[in-house]
Amino acid sequence: MPTDARPGPARGLILVVEDEPAIADVIRLNLAKAGYGVHVEHHGDNALDAVRRLKPAAIILDVGLPGLDGIEICRKLRGDQDWTPVLFVTARDDEVDRIVGLELGADDYVTKPFSPRELVARVTGVLRRTQGVPEPAPQTVGAVTLDAGQRRVFTDNDELALTATEFDLLAYLMRRPGRVFTREQLLSQVWGYSSVVGTRTVDVHIAQLRAKLGGASPIRTIRGVGYAAENTS
Ligand code: CA
Repeated sequence: MPTDARPGPARGLILVVEDEPAIADVIRLNLAKAGYGVHVEHHGDNALDAVRRLKPAAIILDVGLPGLDGIEICRKLRGDQDWTPVLFVTARDDEVDRIVGLELGADDYVTKPFSPRELVARVTGVLRRTQGVPEPAPQTVGAVTLDAGQRRVFTDNDELALTATEFDLLAYLMRRPGRVFTREQLLSQVWGYSSVVGTRTVDVHIAQLRAKLGGASPIRTIRGVGYAAENTS
């Protein structure tokens, strides 16, 4: 049964789609305590309607759900050009591989069991990135042009559809072409996490970016160190 608890959503409304009541409760309580409005759906088939109706600031999406599963929900949203930030909650590592492999445009994920504090930090991070202060002057590195003010990215004449996280990661690298950043630096600068969170998150998003940028990708891997955006020629 859907529950609606909105104690003054000072920080925006979060839609939580989670079929396990105990987990949904923990998420709801912790988000509410952090100042978010929360709406919970327990059945996958209700998720898309809830997104359209409530226009949440972000969605916390369990992968394993009755009805439409989390992956199908995210795929349908992105298919509709809906780029509401999505944070997946997964039960197993192979689900993470599926999320990454399918290039669903997920903004982040946490694996069960997760600490509520970590989950709230991730939500805050996703929102901070998507609502960040825009920067002026489009910038070009190699074949990629990034307009931070309008949050648009082009390769030659094609505009790319990037998630908020992918955009911010690319923008951060392109702001300082040639400079090498470690995964830990990218994690703290782009995501704003402390180092307790695995750096695999960075690799996952670099892989998603490269898949979308294709041959135009300016991102170079510096083995044993990290990543840099460089003019390729
Ligand atoms: Ca589940």
